[in-house]
Amino acid sequence: MAMQSDQSDQSDPPADLSETHSGDRPMTHAANLSAMLTTLRALVECESPTSDLSAAYAVTELARSLAVDWLPTPSRVEIHGGRPVWRWGPDQPAILLLGHLDTVWPVGTLSKIPFAIQGDRITGPGVFDMKVGVVQGWAALKESGITESSGVGMLLTTDEETGSHASRELIAQSITNAKAVIVLEPSLEGALKTRRKGTSNYLVRFHGVASHAGLDPDRGINALVAAAEFILATQLWRDKLQETSVTPTVSASGTTTNTVPDLAEVNVDVRAWNRTEQERVDDLVRAFRSTLPVTIEIVGGIDRPAMESAMSAELFTLAELTNRELGYPDLTECSVGGASDGNLTAAAGIPTIDGMGAVGDGAHADFEWASSSAMPHRAELLAKMLIKLLTDPPRTTTSSHS
Ligand SMILES: [Zn+2]
Repeated sequence: MAMQSDQSDQSDPPADLSETHSGDRPMTHAANLSAMLTTLRALVECESPTSDLSAAYAVTELARSLAVDWLPTPSRVEIHGGRPVWRWGPDQPAILLLGHLDTVWPVGTLSKIPFAIQGDRITGPGVFDMKVGVVQGWAALKESGITESSGVGMLLTTDEETGSHASRELIAQSITNAKAVIVLEPSLEGALKTRRKGTSNYLVRFHGVASHAGLDPDRGINALVAAAEFILATQLWRDKLQETSVTPTVSASGTTTNTVPDLAEVNVDVRAWNRTEQERVDDLVRAFRSTLPVTIEIVGGIDRPAMESAMSAELFTLAELTNRELGYPDLTECSVGGASDGNLTAAAGIPTIDGMGAVGDGAHADFEWASSSAMPHRAELLAKMLIKLLTDPPRTTTSSHS
């Protein structure tokens, strides 16, 4: 369990550490890292799958007590849409740090993948997505010396992994005065996410008529056959050139092996780089007609809109410049198919940069890991960016309302 400190002490940390960390003694990168890892371990060892509401309460309460070590004023746990969230700073901040405390890992995962540090690699459920990002966010606030009155706020939800249905309204309210949103989601090899696909989700139900498959097959209307027609049709709605995917996922039908099914259900996952594509597919889903006289019921629709690159360009440039000033290797950017809460804030017209959290790999996979040596660097980059944003916020570009 060697903790990495090789890169931290040799190259002098830039002067800002002592400049901005008012009051206390300035922290070295190594001391800072060790404090971050202690906090991280506590956070990871409090397992917090989205579906477990009591775990959500436990992790937000824990966050409140851990944050005392990092933030100048107390944070709070609030209930929104029946779920707890963790918050610090003004309700409608000028700059919002956004993240989540839930993970995709069920309680008990910790016994199979315990919290561990091997060289540069930290492992444990939810380290990469995104408990490291949470700790980096706190460390950045401490390092920047920012107070609550500065206009920076932080919000951590507990239902991001299942689509932020309970926290969506709160996120929308939180950004009404925002000039910038920084999403603390993880980044594959450190690349910031400047573009995310939009997602649409459908549950399509086909209602037919049941009958005995042996005695009376023609009296039935086979819902499964109608569903099969639909599934095949969805494959024609994809657009390879525009990278729009239409993927039937979970489906179910039938009650017994000798009954014509009167019900079939198909879930469809749609991803697209822009709203127009999401709308094109939405129209097709709704216009679908079977050759059989079934009734079709559609639940769902366009969910998180796409995060288009125009909304992140200016913040990416700021991150790039700041990172260069700090003397770190150049930042890269990437576009990804997975959605986050950054999709919601960008679609509301707020400049948004995503992927400012952990550096590592393996989101939602059992090889999930995060880099420990990157933690102080990322925190420092974020601290510098916050200070710059407070003095010179980005000009809001064209807002594309969803
Ligand atoms: Zn995440």
